[in-house]
Amino acid sequence: MRARALLALPLILVAAAITPRASAADAGVAALQVGLHSHGLYRGPIDGISGRATAKAIRRLQKRAHITVDGVVGPKTRKALGRFARHRLGSRKLRLGKGGWDVAALQFELAEHGFPSGSFDGIFGPHINRALRRFQKWAGLTVDGVAGPTTLGALTVPPPTIPLPLAWPLTATVLGARFGPRGAGWHSGIDLPAPMGTPVYSARSGQVVWAGWREGGWGFLVVVAHGHGERSMYAHLSRIDVRVGVWVGQGVRVGLIGASGHATGPHLHFEVRIRGASVDPLRALPFAKLTG
Ligand SMILES: [Zn+2]
Repeated sequence: MRARALLALPLILVAAAITPRASAADAGVAALQVGLHSHGLYRGPIDGISGRATAKAIRRLQKRAHITVDGVVGPKTRKALGRFARHRLGSRKLRLGKGGWDVAALQFELAEHGFPSGSFDGIFGPHINRALRRFQKWAGLTVDGVAGPTTLGALTVPPPTIPLPLAWPLTATVLGARFGPRGAGWHSGIDLPAPMGTPVYSARSGQVVWAGWREGGWGFLVVVAHGHGERSMYAHLSRIDVRVGVWVGQGVRVGLIGASGHATGPHLHFEVRIRGASVDPLRALPFAKLTG
């Protein structure tokens, strides 16, 4: 009874922390933000949301270009962004070496579909190439690293949803960074801060397919495969309690909270992937559906 009361309180905190998004992110707005950022006019996050900071940056650009200052992006304002804004998404095929507005929009759409590629910069480099190829494979398309009409069409389909429900990997959960835009990049999981050494539990039954150090900032990482292409990932651990190949039930301890890899403090980076595409874990966790 007492244990249940202790459990309930932190979960309410989580529910309170989840607020509905003000508006849906738009890849065109994200591309505009990248352009404004490259001109030194915008320092906010590349989040694809047209807010006050973006409007202010547009006015600054218009003032600098000596055109009507109305905060609206018309042909003249696009022209003021120079070469960067020349190509709208879909007006040409995108491949390694290209750059500009359409590349930034593609990069944002890939991230929204679970294939982020570093900082949003509008430069089609090796990082976008890799993300694009992974998306093409995921979508069952020809894997050629060229974003033409077929690939762009596949990106208009909504991102994948999580087929199997999950449980919280910590008993007392406080939500830190969410899934989605973060600064100039994309956060592909959720961060759950907790004291060093706090037990971390498997969010669903499955087989451990990774249990050890992983390069790229993950630190000590456990990955559990749940079937239906669904995998959950537990990063920055200070200790790992499972081995590759073992089957774990939901709620089995897989390790302890730490700050290994790229982490500024002890927290769990919890990530869920569907056939390789990262998805927002909050969509499959209890309470998340209450706040839509
Ligand atoms: Zn994280």
